[in-house]
Amino acid sequence: MSKLNFRIGIGYDLHRLEENRDLIIGGVKIPYEKGLLGHSDADVLVHAIIDALLGALALPDIGTLFPDTDEKYKNADSIELLKQVYSMVKEKGYLINNLDTNIIAQAPKMMGYIPQMKEVLSKTLDLDADYISIKAKTKEHLDAVGEKRAIEAQAVVIVYKN
Ligand code: ZN
Repeated sequence: MSKLNFRIGIGYDLHRLEENRDLIIGGVKIPYEKGLLGHSDADVLVHAIIDALLGALALPDIGTLFPDTDEKYKNADSIELLKQVYSMVKEKGYLINNLDTNIIAQAPKMMGYIPQMKEVLSKTLDLDADYISIKAKTKEHLDAVGEKRAIEAQAVVIVYKN
């Protein structure tokens, strides 16, 4: 039995950047010469948020819930997967208090797309945009992310008993 009426969750994800793929982050299509590689639409930010929500409730992670061996999830819209996970959160009797995230990418510049991402997430999670934080960082040209070969995302969420 938890002593507090809230739970915290952490999520992390990374996808490789490849040619001939759309770049979709936070449910927003971003014009770029490459996109993220994955079985679904590879929305790295939404995947980190999904894992944070599942982690907060100590549920199996995204890879267990939506296996990449399942044809059903091929090119899946990650926002639709997030909707399913948010329903699970509500079924467990919880709502989201706030969400804090990082997108770590050397390129392209994320700043201009963040308001739109917040709007999509706000609608999907019934959460005022004031409670959604999306920060954009680079890797100072270091490692695979810094060499523009991958994009990472991190998310922390607090859910509270409704
Ligand atoms: Zn992913």
